[in-house]
Amino acid sequence: MAIFFDCSPGMDRYVVIGNPVAHSLSPIIHAMFAAQAGDSLTYDRLLVERGEFMRAARAFFGEGGCGASITLPFKVDAFDFADARSDRATRAGAANFLMRRGDTIFADNTDGAGLVADLTRNLGVALHGKQVLLVGAGGAARGVLGPLLDAQVARVVIANRTVERARALAELFAASGRVEGCALDAIAPAAFDVTLNATSASTHGESLRLPDAVFGPSTLAYDLAYGPAARAFIQHARALGALASDGLGMLVEQAAEAFALWRGKRPSTALVLAQLRAGQE
Ligand code: NAP
Repeated sequence: MAIFFDCSPGMDRYVVIGNPVAHSLSPIIHAMFAAQAGDSLTYDRLLVERGEFMRAARAFFGEGGCGASITLPFKVDAFDFADARSDRATRAGAANFLMRRGDTIFADNTDGAGLVADLTRNLGVALHGKQVLLVGAGGAARGVLGPLLDAQVARVVIANRTVERARALAELFAASGRVEGCALDAIAPAAFDVTLNATSASTHGESLRLPDAVFGPSTLAYDLAYGPAARAFIQHARALGALASDGLGMLVEQAAEAFALWRGKRPSTALVLAQLRAGQE
């Protein structure tokens, strides 16, 4: 890939690429990080039609773009687009992050680091030795599974509507820890320490049915979605006595990881998350 322009101080350009992308909070988050760092940059939303990712990404970087966040449905395209990839992106087979490095484009996946940071630092959950239920086997599940296993959880059960995808994902990560796949309707009725909703059911207006027993009084029920899309899952979990959170903290933490890679400065996330939460109320 021939990309000839360099990022120039004072006019660095970043985007979030997705479809849809109008709802993305990433421009707001990165503007807050840039203000903290005293950096001058632009960060915009870039709506790209399905099938057009390669052309759009080539044009963006060809015109001097410095970096891109990647959201649905382009994380695998972004992985394929890059010239070089981090281990965690390779493990996930998907990238939510692109960055120019000289004449090449580097891909990474910061979703898992973002989730683990939110669970451990913001929500105070020590993952070591925990029983984790991961519902969903799509791109987000692939991105978070490696970092969860690296955090030395005792076991991850992946439950998915399409059971073959759960089993295939479990097999892919079998060398990294104790992980098994099952169908959504075959989840053992026992409380998990952490129950993660990594499905897109709510974004399609569909409800997710899980056995009540997976939510105990010491369960943290965590929906990777945030805002109204996470409401039903959170309310259901709380009604069954569990603690619950949406994925806003993960969004902020994965963005902080991206900002640190792009800019060499790690932003503080607490204030940004508090401001976004206040805006949600
Ligand atoms: P994806 O690749 O499209 O995967 C979707 C998953 O949801 C699949 O496992 C699919 O099952 C399952 N699913 C869809 N509808 C369902 C239903 N009605 N009942 C049960 N399962 C259903 O999507 P993704 O990229 O993994 O994203 C998943 C969620 O994570 C989204 O809500 C996304 O916004 C969120 N996310 C949040 C962050 C953050 O920073 N907070 C980052 C990444 C993703 P099948 O395999 O059977 O189709």
